[in-house]
Amino acid sequence: MMMTMFARTIHRSSSRINVHHSSLSLSHSLRCNSHSPSNILHCQMSTETASIIDRLKSSGLLRTKGLIGGKWTDAYDGRTIEVNNPASGDVIASVACMGERETKDAISSAYDAFSHWSKLTANDRSSRLRNWYNLLLQHKEELGQLITLEQGKPLKEAIGEVGYGASFIEFFAEEAKRIYGDIIPPTLSDRRLFVLKQPVGVVAAITPWNFPLAMITRKVGPALACGCTVVIKPSELTPLTALAAAELALQSGIPPGVLNVVMGDAPKIGNTLVESPQVRKITFTGSTAVGKKLMAGAAETVKKVSLELGGNAPCIVFDDADLEVAIKGSLATKFRNSGQTCVCANRILVQEGIYEKFTKAFSNAVQNLKVGNGLTEGVAQGPLINEAAVQKVESFVQDAVSKGAKVLLGGKRHSLGMSFYEPTVIGDVKNEMLIARQEVFGPVAPVLRFKTEEEAIQIANDTNAGLAAYIFTNSIKRSWRVSEALEYGIVGVNEGLVSTEVAPFGGYKQSGLGREGSKYGMDDYLEIKYICMGNMG
Ligand code: ADP
Repeated sequence: MMMTMFARTIHRSSSRINVHHSSLSLSHSLRCNSHSPSNILHCQMSTETASIIDRLKSSGLLRTKGLIGGKWTDAYDGRTIEVNNPASGDVIASVACMGERETKDAISSAYDAFSHWSKLTANDRSSRLRNWYNLLLQHKEELGQLITLEQGKPLKEAIGEVGYGASFIEFFAEEAKRIYGDIIPPTLSDRRLFVLKQPVGVVAAITPWNFPLAMITRKVGPALACGCTVVIKPSELTPLTALAAAELALQSGIPPGVLNVVMGDAPKIGNTLVESPQVRKITFTGSTAVGKKLMAGAAETVKKVSLELGGNAPCIVFDDADLEVAIKGSLATKFRNSGQTCVCANRILVQEGIYEKFTKAFSNAVQNLKVGNGLTEGVAQGPLINEAAVQKVESFVQDAVSKGAKVLLGGKRHSLGMSFYEPTVIGDVKNEMLIARQEVFGPVAPVLRFKTEEEAIQIANDTNAGLAAYIFTNSIKRSWRVSEALEYGIVGVNEGLVSTEVAPFGGYKQSGLGREGSKYGMDDYLEIKYICMGNMG
């Protein structure tokens, strides 16, 4: 996610939240509305948005309250927070703005529910998760529309996210039945040694806005499969998808209290979760700065911590690459979700022999990406999440250009206004520039030139991040050599889209701790218990 190194303030006409991010101060000063009930707003909304909202409302999927102990709950002081459509500025809904007291109650509910949920058979938990998976898929269209409305990504991508998000529930429903222990040959003849795997307990899951569903399911899926209970804190920018998913979880037979959702004042909720001795694990996807803060806080109660933080993905195109494959792969990894994913290529390293050809063909392909409201047919690039995100992109582009980089395509805000930015390609970028040091998190492809394989590896590894990397080459030997040399948790070879529920996702270095998805994704939610039985001879 974003590593924001400068203070930023969001001020949109209809915006409801002031966010001051900085590596130094992590204050989120939040403007909740006093005493207005959480509900759905129709004033000044486009007809298209209004009719989608009406449909979501009548299907019961547009929830605006938090979920505590199986009950939809307003903030105790009645405060609310508005959720905007980034493509239009429409206020979609007004949701409960919660804090410490609600979070404490959500933790208690999860704690109480643990004794029952953890004792169900794996089969029982599995079949309820399977019901949830089926319901998510049954409501694929509506959930997709909700994602597009609050997050901005094109509807096709949003529906794709629902399939991807649901796949974690299906996968971990199956894994629930495979939590095997061990029997260890004893060192004394009258002893028997066993290893038992048990759920860690209450899990706090803090998630970002760029994948409003999938970032939740890949944490909650393994947690529930293992027998843990959960308090989810979705991003305040995109809480509606989380609440809709929670509604479907209730319908699927997941008992009250097993899954709770609170949102509102992020630092207050975060601190309450971190400080509670009843919470045994924090799982977080988001900025490196907040991740470090949570990790430090978790030390006090020695919680397990899983972190999926910022990336700075290199995408290395060698002279011997298949140009068509390299263009397709680079385009997919750079421009998915308008560049707002932590595995998006952040630096495209191109070998000098193919540099001119690549940048020309790549720029042509980028030029064809249609920008617009994600609900419009054929749109490939939606808006950025908010004004602050555009300002960050602008400042990075400005820095690069002032230091000698050349804009090959785009390079400015889109004429559509709002938070739309033109799909952009910048050439002659150097690894020292801001745009190559930090995640741009926008539709800007910085292209760097290199001479040798060694130089490419050196540039690629010259960062504190280590999440995803991509290489394009037709040499099998080089594929292995470079894959092994890259200090990254994920390597795509001749492929730009690598995420799947069956493979481990996670980073080296400051990109995080732990892995999500796959059989490895269960480990972080399990304790290992060693049982030594004596006097057995
Ligand atoms: P981004 O820069 O991508 O928005 P953040 O790390 O700010 O990433 O946000 C990811 C998640 O972390 C969101 O749910 C956000 O509300 C939450 N968050 C932000 N600040 C804090 C904090 N101090 N404590 C706990 N959670 C936080």
